[in-house]
Amino acid sequence: MKPKSIFSTSSTEDNETARNREHKPMLSKAFRKAGEFATATANAIARRNLVSSGGGVSTETADVVVIGAGVVGLAVAREFALKGRDVLVVEAATTFGTGTSSRNSEVIHAGIYYPPQSLKAVLCVRGRELLYKYCSDRGIPHKQLGKLIVATRVSEISKLEQILKRGIENGVEDLRMAEGSLAMEMEPELHCVKALLSPSSGIVDSHAFMLSLVGDAENFGTTISYNTIVIGGQVEDNSLHLQVSESKDLENHAGESTTQPQLVIIPKIVINSAGLSALHLAKRFQGLNHRFIPASYFARGCYFTLSNTKSPFSHLIYPIPEDGGLGVHVTLDLNGQVKFGPDVEWIDDVDDISSFLNRLDYSVNAERSSRFYPEIRKYFPNLRDGSLEPGYSGIRPKLSGRGQLASDFVIQGENIHGIPGLVNLFGIESPGLTSSLAIAEYLVSKFAG
Ligand SMILES: Cc1cc2nc3c(=O)[nH]c(=O)nc-3n(C[C@H](O)[C@H](O)[C@H](O)COP(=O)(O)OP(=O)(O)OC[C@H]3O[C@@H](n4cnc5c(N)ncnc54)[C@H](O)[C@@H]3O)c2cc1C
Repeated sequence: MKPKSIFSTSSTEDNETARNREHKPMLSKAFRKAGEFATATANAIARRNLVSSGGGVSTETADVVVIGAGVVGLAVAREFALKGRDVLVVEAATTFGTGTSSRNSEVIHAGIYYPPQSLKAVLCVRGRELLYKYCSDRGIPHKQLGKLIVATRVSEISKLEQILKRGIENGVEDLRMAEGSLAMEMEPELHCVKALLSPSSGIVDSHAFMLSLVGDAENFGTTISYNTIVIGGQVEDNSLHLQVSESKDLENHAGESTTQPQLVIIPKIVINSAGLSALHLAKRFQGLNHRFIPASYFARGCYFTLSNTKSPFSHLIYPIPEDGGLGVHVTLDLNGQVKFGPDVEWIDDVDDISSFLNRLDYSVNAERSSRFYPEIRKYFPNLRDGSLEPGYSGIRPKLSGRGQLASDFVIQGENIHGIPGLVNLFGIESPGLTSSLAIAEYLVSKFAG
């Protein structure tokens, strides 16, 4: 497929195009030249009537700094800006949404699977409502396709019933159990013995959504500084001093664990929304007790697409969840193209610099398709040999490892770690896209003061 620019407001750009595009700074506020970096960042801050103390590495104060311009960071920046706060977003890449936010299924989850009262359950249900409304109000492409969670063997029916019970406990009110015959009437290519229909599940154009968040945030005075990495921090005088460098500087020193910051920013509020890097970054905050930093695990999820075929399904089709993920499911994009995945591949820890620079292995090994065929054929028996093609992959920032119980989102403020103004967002895996507006609402209500 020919890449289109994300920067057009075209509603047809798909997630894959966005992943493959050559990322270019899209906003005038991006800082392009290495030599101009510290000045540009300092000027951006100075324009906001903040004070420079000068001398050595420049030091600036700020109101709210959001680290990371993924979907969560952008939603949070927008929400603080709407509440009248002066927000600076610091993003390592050349544009927004190049991390996990452009490497997911783009599914609007209903909120079925998560333990009742967990942050995932509460924020997913609320986030889904907010997201549908936001997309409808702004004309952001989305579709409430509905989803079928399927039992393909009689022995799986009890699991389906547990999922139904949990969904009801979480406030997902429209779930319906359907006999296999009815589900197979709805989806003639489907094989199942029973299915749980979730009418409120859907899909969204995540890039159009993020572009809109950027627009909102900027309209309310947010500055987004691309090519800008937070390399660490130091707790001094009861606040976190962020050490900031131009990304190029870190690239030039790749392999070295420390570089000299070009700028120190002292914000009133810091939201660590660095996705896959959030835990690594927190370890570089001197003065933050490491006992508050959970263990990190990474699980790659690969997708395969169906070659030369129109989608056999019109709903999202999910099997019973597996350890670490929701099972190799069927997702449709807004152009009606089908993809299967993601699977779960536990990978070794990545080093901090590689995670900051997003130098991660996203390749999809074509041989993994041999595991996909039998999984998919459980519910789609007519899948032809040779029809799966490698698609893309994303990496889940997980807080629990292989065989462990799935962990919740972790949102830590001063009440937990004792550092005024610092909010860490850890383990923001799925349903982070769906929950993004609710996470933002929650943070502002809890931490805006
Ligand atoms: C395979 C897969 C499928 C998924 N499917 C779904 C789904 O269907 N529905 C759903 O709701 N959720 C889904 N998710 C989850 C969802 O994609 C994430 O929860 C969400 O994108 C996380 O957004 P984020 O802003 O926290 O992180 P990211 O998008 O990773 O953004 C973090 C940003 O921080 C920047 N950064 C990192 N380090 C630094 C630093 N030191 N200084 C400055 N910037 C830095 C990065 O460059 C990046 O832009 C899926 C996830 C995966 C992996």
